[in-house]
Amino acid sequence: MTVQGLFSSKSNAAARISAMPRIAIVGRGFSGMMMAIALMKTMRMPFHMQLFDPNSTVSGGQALSAARSSTILNTRVRDLSVATGDTDDFNDWLCSNAEFRAAVPAAIPGFRQIFVPKEIFSDYVYQRFSEALAARKDITVQVCHEPVIAIRRSHGNRYLLESANPANPLFDTVILATGYGLPAVEAPEHDVQPVRAQRLVARPHTVLLGSGIRVVDQLLQLRDAGYAGQITIMSRHGFLPQSHTPNSADPLFPAEALPKSLPEIVRFIRTACREAEEEGGSWQSVMNGLRKHARSLWRSLPAHQKRQFNRHLRSIYDSHRNRLPEAMHARLKAELAGGNTVVLRGTAGRQGLSGIFFRPAGSQADDVIHAERIVDCRCRAPALASPLLQSLLDQGLGQPDELSLGLAVDQCGQVCLEDGTIVDGLLAVGPLGLGSLPDIDLVPEIVSQAYAAAEHVGERFYPKCKAV
Ligand SMILES: Cc1cc2nc3c(=O)[nH]c(=O)nc-3n(C[C@H](O)[C@H](O)[C@H](O)COP(=O)(O)OP(=O)(O)OC[C@H]3O[C@@H](n4cnc5c(N)ncnc54)[C@H](O)[C@@H]3O)c2cc1C
Repeated sequence: MTVQGLFSSKSNAAARISAMPRIAIVGRGFSGMMMAIALMKTMRMPFHMQLFDPNSTVSGGQALSAARSSTILNTRVRDLSVATGDTDDFNDWLCSNAEFRAAVPAAIPGFRQIFVPKEIFSDYVYQRFSEALAARKDITVQVCHEPVIAIRRSHGNRYLLESANPANPLFDTVILATGYGLPAVEAPEHDVQPVRAQRLVARPHTVLLGSGIRVVDQLLQLRDAGYAGQITIMSRHGFLPQSHTPNSADPLFPAEALPKSLPEIVRFIRTACREAEEEGGSWQSVMNGLRKHARSLWRSLPAHQKRQFNRHLRSIYDSHRNRLPEAMHARLKAELAGGNTVVLRGTAGRQGLSGIFFRPAGSQADDVIHAERIVDCRCRAPALASPLLQSLLDQGLGQPDELSLGLAVDQCGQVCLEDGTIVDGLLAVGPLGLGSLPDIDLVPEIVSQAYAAAEHVGERFYPKCKAV
């Protein structure tokens, strides 16, 4: 069923809407959809939910046959359930899918340990969303295809959202799930400045910007499509994703209290990793254990050490937490060993028609490097400069976190002000809270946060409301 088809059956409910609590979710990426699922499964009373996003690509129905060329998630099936308290939900969904079972026959007795393409996960999320909606005859849902450009407080504790639609509806609760912002608009060709570029190689050459899982995915997709040219990965620090273990690595972490300063913490973790390996375990287990301590650890660090972490350690941390399935990692290693793919460490600059400026790490001068194709695979930070977030900051409805990575939020996404007070009825979920909550850009953390946020929203309207 399409998104549009799903909602048209609810469209005659307009009259009921004004009497119900009105909740807006801005952004229909994973965080927005997860938030909608959590609200529908958690809030017992009727409510109206309006979902804003100009991007209409939330769709089930992606053919499994397209899976081979698409992005592989780097989290195992067992960690991707969107059902609270049921870690097997995604596995069960895959097991009930005959087409998937036929395509992946080796995964017996289940699929918990495997990695699946993003489209399959998207189908699962969309189906759970549709089911949650079908089970709620008492709520109304409206989908709006415009970006929200401003938020204002109005009528006491309510919020007015501004978009291209002049209706400017009022909401009791607004949940921002804008993640990494609106997709960038490609610069028109005449805006691109010509760059006189040096040829690194005499054959086709592609530059990939970034060093995370997107880069590896793009690299392998190019090779799968038969591209035989040179590939250069340009990255500021040059840390590419590490490998997962063959089977999931159970979290392991020393029982001793963690030291207080960042350098000591790093030494502590290194030692724990070494000892785990000496005892036949894996550093991956220690990193999984560290994630369980990450929030309290992050909270305990003073601001200057958080900044230090961000500057010098985040890229190493990311390369160890966002790990590649073993087979992908082996292909990456083979690529680099073969010399047809190289990593350049430094800062990428302006792009032109035939190349890109690049300043190697430690150098004061830019090189200009020729490439027929430049693919930006860098992960953008949440866009604090977007009109929507700027309007929120301008009106004192929120503040950036200490590192200005996103908004200051608490565990369930409530937006916080400098004096620690909570902005009533305003939440920011997912990567928007990355400077406040480590790993909140990852699916398991987003799922937990969405249910906690939904509980909170429910209690706000109906203090005794319990999960259904
Ligand atoms: C290639 C890749 C692989 C990944 N693999 C994994 C994995 O294996 N495991 C894992 O845990 N995590 C993984 N992640 C990370 C995780 O999936 C993301 O962090 C998470 O999906 C973020 O979702 P989001 O909805 O918050 O943000 P986004 O995906 O950025 O979505 C935000 C949405 O908000 C909309 N929007 C923005 N501004 C406005 C506005 N003003 N008005 C209306 N709409 C707006 C945008 O159009 C967009 O649709 C991966 C990420 C990527 C990119």
